[in-house]
Amino acid sequence: MANEPKTTGYRGRWAFVDLADRTVRVEPADLSYAREYVGGRGLQARLMADHLEKTGPLRDPLSPGNRIVIGTAALNDTAVATAGRGSCSFVGTMARSPEPAAWVPGHKPLFGLVTHSSAGGLFPNMLKRADFDQIVIDGRADRPVRLEIVDGDCRIVDAEDDLFETAAGRRVPRAASLITDALTARLKGSSTLTVGPAGWNLVDFACLTADRHRNFGRGGAGAVFGSKNLVAITALGTEAVAYADPEAFKRLSKELDGLIKASVEDPARTASFRPTTGTTWWLDRAFNGRYLGVAGGYLPWHNFDEGAFDPADYEKVSTDAFLAISGKHNVCNKCRHVFCTRGARVPDGPYAGEGVRPEFETIALWINCCILDRDAIFHMNALCNELGVDTMTFGSVMAGAMELQEKGLLGRYPGAAGFGDAPGMIRTLKEIAHASSDLGRLFGHHSDRVIAELAAAAPSSTADISGALTTAFGGLGYAGINPKAFPGMFTAYGTSNRGRGDHTYAWTVQAEEGGLKEAHDLAAYVAEGQAGKALVDSLGLCDFFTGDITAEPFLSLYRALSGVGYTPESLKACGRRIYALERRLNNAQGRDRAYDAFVPPKLTVPMTRGARKGRAVDEAFYSSALDAYYEAWGWTRDGRVV
Ligand code: SF4
Repeated sequence: MANEPKTTGYRGRWAFVDLADRTVRVEPADLSYAREYVGGRGLQARLMADHLEKTGPLRDPLSPGNRIVIGTAALNDTAVATAGRGSCSFVGTMARSPEPAAWVPGHKPLFGLVTHSSAGGLFPNMLKRADFDQIVIDGRADRPVRLEIVDGDCRIVDAEDDLFETAAGRRVPRAASLITDALTARLKGSSTLTVGPAGWNLVDFACLTADRHRNFGRGGAGAVFGSKNLVAITALGTEAVAYADPEAFKRLSKELDGLIKASVEDPARTASFRPTTGTTWWLDRAFNGRYLGVAGGYLPWHNFDEGAFDPADYEKVSTDAFLAISGKHNVCNKCRHVFCTRGARVPDGPYAGEGVRPEFETIALWINCCILDRDAIFHMNALCNELGVDTMTFGSVMAGAMELQEKGLLGRYPGAAGFGDAPGMIRTLKEIAHASSDLGRLFGHHSDRVIAELAAAAPSSTADISGALTTAFGGLGYAGINPKAFPGMFTAYGTSNRGRGDHTYAWTVQAEEGGLKEAHDLAAYVAEGQAGKALVDSLGLCDFFTGDITAEPFLSLYRALSGVGYTPESLKACGRRIYALERRLNNAQGRDRAYDAFVPPKLTVPMTRGARKGRAVDEAFYSSALDAYYEAWGWTRDGRVV
């Protein structure tokens, strides 16, 4: 491909892989897409639209008609701090509710949401060095295959026998670290993205794992790989990024670096805690308000019933408890200053081992299952990475399963873990990933299928069964900030393009602590945050980038890299364009106000203890916030893009 024109920042090359007929077509990138949709997530939304507008709505995300796109952005593999995040887009398997669901008022079928997931590590940068911006994968292979992408060449190869093992009577890919080791031995210096046993067994919240512990976590990317008979992608490349103006980029990136460093080191800024405690500092902040003197009381407990519990119990799983097992920094490629990730080591006991420290969201959602064993949380996090299970959705599903167990509503599915039962939760994790028991097979599905199955055997208990699962009606699972605590955060959760419960597309906690409280203001703040986050994901940055992407020196730096000169307004317009496009695709998949407006009944019950005692989701307030939210976006009152 030596004669193809090179663009700057981008490689200018996309690979279209059709697994059904085993072909790979390499095409020059459409640079108008790169301008209008920026890169990573935005560009992938456009590529998903090209597909879905041709095929029509996708009824089954596990059918060969699903498309999954893996790729990068202009900033990936440059010297910009935290610019190591790659993108993955597909129609998700967890956020769906295709069959009639009598437990949801006004239910309409939802066939799966267009989902974006981001992951750091080395893989995104290596893909770019291998000379591709996007790998667009369609169809289903007739036997297990993998992709090998080396210095401008992308090929489909049969997945070798040594990548598989037999577990619970099924032939499944081996644990993520073993697949990575095997493929790295074949291709020295490469980076691997792999499905785990969970994805192979089509668990609806299966993830993809890169570089052993970096995940495209939310939405079910692992299940989509499994449905395509695709085991792994290995990338190896040597070509460095080209710059439109290398000298200017060097000067401006140094300037930006200084600003990020100063921001991180400023003790008044929240980010200053991350280099040591990483995201786990939110544990203390959510439980007791430590650090900034703001009230806590919103760390979820007992399936979101409460935001506080016994402080003596909390000490076992606090920020300090995880700091005590933390090791060296273990960061994404080219990350500097922020350093959110650290290794961890549990020296002895049943969960002894070495790995990475779990993140706040994972720990919080397992505390929500009343798990107070730090070492078990460390171990379970490592297992999720190996088995290919999204830690967050698993936590929400398990909290629901534990409530069903507590209330005696699991019928013919005995043996489920109860609240606080760490060994039982670990056992269930393995059973879900390996589909090795009736219980595991049941809870590996999206929640409306779980409810339908349990309710069929006990129709008079339908309300109690559906009420226990906050992931009902296509929920992705709420994140680690108790949804009862902040009405703005609940609006962000309810309207995220990738599904109910996602916290990454908009974040309101500090704004609400600072006094933002009117429905109209909160809705506008959420809408603006969502458009901004679409840009962050499209630029290949991580959530913890501390600079302003719509101001100088960032805009000049981006021009020096890519040659694309955005104004603050034109870049913001790109963010709105990307978000609205995703929403429009999701409208076609069945999403409208009925989905956004659904409030799991148990979230309307007030919390009974802690600093936010009495807080619950106020449905009338949320309804008015939704009105204002659609108005902020210019959509219909029914939540449709016009
Ligand atoms: S701050 Fe964390 S997630 Fe972001 S680039 Fe650095 S290590 Fe990766």
